[in-house]
Amino acid sequence: MKTLEILDLAKGKGKPYAILYHLTAVMHILYMIIFIIENNAVLAGINAVLAFFFVIVGLLVIKAVRNGGIFTACTIAMSIFLVTHYVVLGPTFGFQYLSIGTIPLMFYLSYVNDAGVSIARKGSFASYLMLIIVTIACSKNDYSLIVVSEISRRIIVFMNLSITFFVSAKFMSEFVKKTYQETGQLENKNLDLEKSANVDALTGLYNRRSIEEFIDRAFYMARGEGTDFSFLMCDIDNFKHVNDTYGHDCGDLVLKNIASIIKNEVRPEDMVFRWGGEEIFIIIKAGGYIAKSVAERCRKAIEESSVTYEDEKIQVTITIGGAAYFQGADRDELINRADKNLYEGKHNGKNQVVM
Ligand code: GH3
Ligand code: MG
Ligand code: MG
Repeated sequence: MKTLEILDLAKGKGKPYAILYHLTAVMHILYMIIFIIENNAVLAGINAVLAFFFVIVGLLVIKAVRNGGIFTACTIAMSIFLVTHYVVLGPTFGFQYLSIGTIPLMFYLSYVNDAGVSIARKGSFASYLMLIIVTIACSKNDYSLIVVSEISRRIIVFMNLSITFFVSAKFMSEFVKKTYQETGQLENKNLDLEKSANVDALTGLYNRRSIEEFIDRAFYMARGEGTDFSFLMCDIDNFKHVNDTYGHDCGDLVLKNIASIIKNEVRPEDMVFRWGGEEIFIIIKAGGYIAKSVAERCRKAIEESSVTYEDEKIQVTITIGGAAYFQGADRDELINRADKNLYEGKHNGKNQVVM
């Protein structure tokens, strides 16, 4: 996405960028008018040709012509413009500012073209060399091959400074904008990646990978701030039978349905994880009494629900074993208690909650 949009600018494709070329043409028309007034046919002629050139380039760009050559041709045109005007008019007209203004432009274009910094350095160094050569050749303060009125000279200096400012500010701000945009896109991608690394693809629940962090957090809060929490270990009853009778796809559908029911029944601050195959682990941010009622609510909702698979209505139940945090308890102890209670529930006939 980045490359497309950006190459469009570098290669000058698309209407928004045509305006840049047409503004350049307008600039040359203004210079042309000044030199017509100053009776200088050569400089007026050069600017007329350049204005025509940039109008054509702008039109090609509107027609979405894709051609890297356009960019090269523009660079050559700008160089001819700078050197001729500097040599003819000397240092007091401000064309040297324009060469300096090309530096941010070059870095921007090298960035957007994925061309690397080295090409921008080379381009900038070439600008610098060009500037040094013409400065040494035409460095006398009153140097000028032609006579131009003071008012025209001041207008030209004003234009050159303004253009330099506009080009530098415009392309540096574009550069910063692109950097922010790309950083934002990367941050979003990171969030997506982080989420997909911690979320189970089938059920949309947190996966096993993320459990430990949340368990640690629950213990930390309980020890530090005295907040209660409980673990609930849920296991689908006779799930093998569902798989064996209706197939694995049907089993997946049932599992998904149970996950979404449980997620709906718990509060937003409670965390639901896929513990293993068809086991779901819940951290309830409350003590045993509330956790038991939440578990009972989940059990009941699942018992009352059904999924339809190939015209077949399938109902399952779950058994839940729970354990509430108590002072001095550690992770393994609580998980073992929940597991033991689950086993007891299974042993006593399933479809029940044991805390
Ligand atoms: P019990 O009531 O004692 O829990 O009986 P059960 O048949 O549910 O036994 P168990 O809990 O051992 O069942 C595990 C089965 O769950 C085995 C496996 O085929 C199935 N299972 C585990 N993960 C998945 C899954 O992602 N999709 C499907 N369709 N089945 C799964
Ligand atoms: Mg199981
Ligand atoms: Mg089971």
